[in-house]
Amino acid sequence: MHIRRTGVHTAWDNAIPPIASLAPGAEVTVETADASGGQIGAGADAAAVAGLDFGRVNPVTGPFLVEGAEPGDALVVDVLDMTVGDWGWTANIPGFGLLADDFPDPHLRVSAISGGVAEPLPGLRVPVVPMIGTIGVAPPEPGEHSIVPPRRWGGNLDIRHIGPGARLVLPVGVPGALLSLGDAHAAMGDGEVCGTGVETEAAVRLRVDLRRGAAPATPVIETHPRAHRTGAALATTGIGPDLMRAARDATRALVGEVAARTGMAPVDAYLLASIAADLKISEVVDAPNWVVSAHLELSLLG
Ligand code: CA
Ligand code: CA
Repeated sequence: MHIRRTGVHTAWDNAIPPIASLAPGAEVTVETADASGGQIGAGADAAAVAGLDFGRVNPVTGPFLVEGAEPGDALVVDVLDMTVGDWGWTANIPGFGLLADDFPDPHLRVSAISGGVAEPLPGLRVPVVPMIGTIGVAPPEPGEHSIVPPRRWGGNLDIRHIGPGARLVLPVGVPGALLSLGDAHAAMGDGEVCGTGVETEAAVRLRVDLRRGAAPATPVIETHPRAHRTGAALATTGIGPDLMRAARDATRALVGEVAARTGMAPVDAYLLASIAADLKISEVVDAPNWVVSAHLELSLLG
């Protein structure tokens, strides 16, 4: 089965009728729209970011009814393959993102994507590691629920390991599960610090299955080695009693290091951190100060 990206919705609501039914064990190819829902084109600039209609952002394709799924079951989603578009975008959206106070102005970089590389700036070649930013099932609570925050039922998880070769296990909350997905990224760093990855259209091949009565409390992922980075990295740190503040400090320090080493504009270093640097919780035991580190592979610094 092949599902076009026309069947989208922009809120979670278990009253949205399914666009297709899948039997357990079935495979489906799902086209997904980019996170702007087509509002940002390949020739766009920062004005398109400033004019975004947030009622149309983060569309997901679906929902898919999984035959026989009941609340309390586990929905097992195997990501078999994923093709991303030939371009993508990364934006600083005012008021959104970890360093929103540092970077108040809209900013946009469009990347050409080819040969396994995305190029947001001339000569800056970021490896493509495709992933699904938003994937989840309908919540049992009635009514519309914003697409932005992730929940127990999945959704806008932005876990970059949910890509080809990975297995995602979701709790089923309503009969038929009602699975939807979208918000593909050609690349993203752990933390997605500016709020966007390399946002792109995609076609995702999935297989769905059920485990009776085995719903996990929250989503569980089995990763694939291609999502693991192994190159030598520059790692900056944030240290203190508040993990969010430490995450900001580590990111701010990375932006400063990259800008100083390369001459890149700080806002572009921020976008680069969002698509290629990984935030890690390094230590949460040496009270009262915790450590967040931000890792960027040195190969990206030329
Ligand atoms: Ca997302
Ligand atoms: Ca996104």
